[in-house]
Amino acid sequence: MSESLAVNLGLYIHIPFCQAKCSYCHFISVPYQQRIAARYKSAILREIANTCIHNAVNVEVDTIYFGGGTPSLVPAGHLISILSACRSRFHLIPECEISLEVNPGTLSEKKIKSFRKAGVNRISIGAQSFVDQELRAIGRLHTADMILDTVYLLRNSGYENISLDLMLGLPFQTKESWHKSLNIFIQLRIPHISIYMLDLDEECLLSKWVAANLISIPEEDLISDMYLETINTLASAGYTQYEISNFSLPGSECCHNLKYWRREAVHGFGLGSHSFDGMVRYSNLSNMKDYLGAIETDTSPKAWEEPIDARKALQESLFLGLRLAHGINLDELSNKYDEKKISQYAGHFQELSERGLVKRDGNRFSLTTSGMLLSNEIFQLFV
Ligand code: SF4
Repeated sequence: MSESLAVNLGLYIHIPFCQAKCSYCHFISVPYQQRIAARYKSAILREIANTCIHNAVNVEVDTIYFGGGTPSLVPAGHLISILSACRSRFHLIPECEISLEVNPGTLSEKKIKSFRKAGVNRISIGAQSFVDQELRAIGRLHTADMILDTVYLLRNSGYENISLDLMLGLPFQTKESWHKSLNIFIQLRIPHISIYMLDLDEECLLSKWVAANLISIPEEDLISDMYLETINTLASAGYTQYEISNFSLPGSECCHNLKYWRREAVHGFGLGSHSFDGMVRYSNLSNMKDYLGAIETDTSPKAWEEPIDARKALQESLFLGLRLAHGINLDELSNKYDEKKISQYAGHFQELSERGLVKRDGNRFSLTTSGMLLSNEIFQLFV
């Protein structure tokens, strides 16, 4: 890592195994096989042990995130050994946020208790919908009842810091069915929700079904309406939107994910994981055979790296900062970046304000709800 390393560090650990490939999936995931999972765990342990972090003595790890894939699918012992390796290699602060992504149907009471004992203190459930027909259409193996069972199981084991993922734009989804999913979430009083819009990659199965008219997905206007209604519904229920896709009860924001939008340091371990040390972005190999081969021969698993110069850093600060509800403060940016460079973007802010896509409070700019709907188009202005 570079000389100007941030003192706080987040760790991301990618667990790529899944029971089956969902029809919309564009994540790095492979079918679960006991033998490969055991080999992969050993590779992660070796990667952690071999990680060279410059100035590591000053680094305090304050978040760890197990993402996937389906991390809850592998034996609890694997995650426990990985956490223990993190504790040996890094200094974890006592209140370190340790998140685990789980899928309904992959947890037992015994497994949950093991995670809890190992220090996992935040659980993110990949629910996606409370409507079975929608779940089947995207190839999910669970049902709405299984999501409820997972929530009860987690709460009975003492977990309150829970997040749920729901998706907008699923096949068969209507305003009514979306209200049903959202209302069940609200009634459960789960403190955090991530709402993602279905984002179809050309290569995925669902794209092909849609192209062949075998299945249809809701029109963009309907999805936009549902998103805008969702913001109001969640606000009335006490949830604050702190990022385009993320809402929480006070104090339940995801500290790990905030690091990405704030450009803080995160080190990734495992297949295809991404890292940022404050100066350089880099990523691991994303093919399992290549990744395991590199680690097992003590070769770097790095696939690429990109140094981030001052111009790129400013661009990132602008478009990542605008994802957050409180937006960006140009005065704060001018402490870090050349004012002349910042002023080059003044015209964009002016135009976006006139179009009602950005709101201004002094020198702070943030997206309006209409701006959030057009966020991808807006972010293009800054790259
Ligand atoms: S569970 Fe997630 S990572 Fe696994 S196949 Fe489905 S969408 Fe992809």
